[in-house]
Amino acid sequence: MGSEIPRIDFVKKMNEIKNCGFVPALRIDNTGIGFTLETLLGIRENNYTKGDFIDIGKYNEILFELKSQRYKKIDPRKSKPLINRHLISLVTQAPHGGLSNSELLAKYGYSDEQGRKRRNLYATISADRFVKSKYESISKMKIRRNRERLFLVVNNQEVAYVDLDKILGKLENLLIVRADSELRNCNCSMNHLHKDGFHEYFHFNTTCIFTGFDKEKFYRSIDEGKIKYDLRMHDVEGEIDGQEGYDTKHDHGTGFRAKFENIAGFYSRSEFI
Ligand SMILES: [Zn+2]
Repeated sequence: MGSEIPRIDFVKKMNEIKNCGFVPALRIDNTGIGFTLETLLGIRENNYTKGDFIDIGKYNEILFELKSQRYKKIDPRKSKPLINRHLISLVTQAPHGGLSNSELLAKYGYSDEQGRKRRNLYATISADRFVKSKYESISKMKIRRNRERLFLVVNNQEVAYVDLDKILGKLENLLIVRADSELRNCNCSMNHLHKDGFHEYFHFNTTCIFTGFDKEKFYRSIDEGKIKYDLRMHDVEGEIDGQEGYDTKHDHGTGFRAKFENIAGFYSRSEFI
């Protein structure tokens, strides 16, 4: 692992990748898309935390954060493709003050409904309305911004907060690459990449380059409910023996997420390639 940030001509490389059409995933499951894209771009081997790469082409010397998302999902076992409209994760950020993630889980989480020995806390919290939830604590959650600080509010009580000015640096310049995903019957030798005989292939065909982050518009987007604060975590509940066959502990953390369509709203420039 080098500590130097990679330097690439992004638009040139991305056009080459796009022109390849469908390419096989280099890792299985959810993280396969990001791993495959970063490997193809040649930016995998770095542990720089402030961004993913610096452009040396059209966006000369700009530091970018890269996100990827499956868009159209083609599974030959299903009658038609599925369109993925999930929120895109912008920044992962645990609370800076108030209750920690594990304290939030202990206080507002709920026992797993499928009988797994887990306590879960999964909720997408908005500033403009309460979430619909059968869990009482979650149905009373909102986020509320006061200047640079965003509070998680439960039953009108501020229970945790994030200092927004600490997260904004990561959003300065953002790239979102969307791919069509297709499960293919595959007999390549990489068996560890097959699931039920299928290998996932990606066509990285849509890229949006967002530059000129606008803090005031970002704040307004939070206030209008276009940016959500997402709670996504679970932990062991009860006695386990390590043979559960599901993950008993996972902290996707808490973070900021938005619909693809709403992201351009807090940048001054967006370009599709
Ligand atoms: Zn294969």
